[in-house]
Amino acid sequence: MATTGIVLTDVTKTYPDGTVAVGSLSLEARQGEVLALVGPSGCGKSTTLRMVNRLVEPTSGTIEVGGEDVMAADAVQLRRSIGYVIQHVGLFPHRTVAQNVATVPGLLGWDKARTAARVDELLAMVGLPRETYGARYPHELSGGERQRVGVARALAARPSVLLMDEPFGAVDPQGRRRLQREFQAIQRDLGTTVMMVTHDIREAVLLADRIAVLSRGGVLEQLGTPDEVTGAPANDFVEDFLADFDVEPKAS
Ligand code: ADP
Repeated sequence: MATTGIVLTDVTKTYPDGTVAVGSLSLEARQGEVLALVGPSGCGKSTTLRMVNRLVEPTSGTIEVGGEDVMAADAVQLRRSIGYVIQHVGLFPHRTVAQNVATVPGLLGWDKARTAARVDELLAMVGLPRETYGARYPHELSGGERQRVGVARALAARPSVLLMDEPFGAVDPQGRRRLQREFQAIQRDLGTTVMMVTHDIREAVLLADRIAVLSRGGVLEQLGTPDEVTGAPANDFVEDFLADFDVEPKAS
């Protein structure tokens, strides 16, 4: 890929029942950037994210990843090349933790030694050492541990583009801070382009280079750095949204 940015141009999604989840949204996650989509529940964040890896088909508009139109790409290959983390991680219940993390390297044909080394590295990174956790099954883990396996699995093949939907929601506060820091280190190290959905503006401020605030119908209310959004809310909607989280606009 020449670039790994994600570019949405005039993207609309109308579900079959007539719900306009996203309307004429234009937005870019630049190469190597963490872009957070924030906004109240139901404002179209997940729909936007899921159109990038084609779990949802846009009704109109174009989406490019690395300069290529996703609608022209092979959907299976596209999904293998883009990491995807969701809150209720779809771990494979009949595969061990190690096997779950090894899924994409396996699909990509990595040899066993390389895959095993990578699995060890990732499990250590998310605080689930292989000796203790590798052979367990998902039902033998807490919700937070399952989520960490999901993050490890998404990062296993070093994807250059990563989509995350409430990735740290089920992790307890202490574990969350640690996982957020680990994630940040990995992201910076790899220069991964990340589009992340969170309902929590504080998480967005902490992790994102830029924040897109959406309102119902996937309407972009503001796009800016955490300082810009918290320091100079573009309108009442953004201000009210920040107020709900007790994020005080910064004194300028
Ligand atoms: P968010 O992630 O911000 O909570 P979503 O993208 O999940 O928002 O949903 C946006 C809107 O689209 C909501 O009104 C939701 O009810 C609707 N929606 C989501 N998925 C579907 C679907 N499969 N069919 C119909 N409506 C949907």
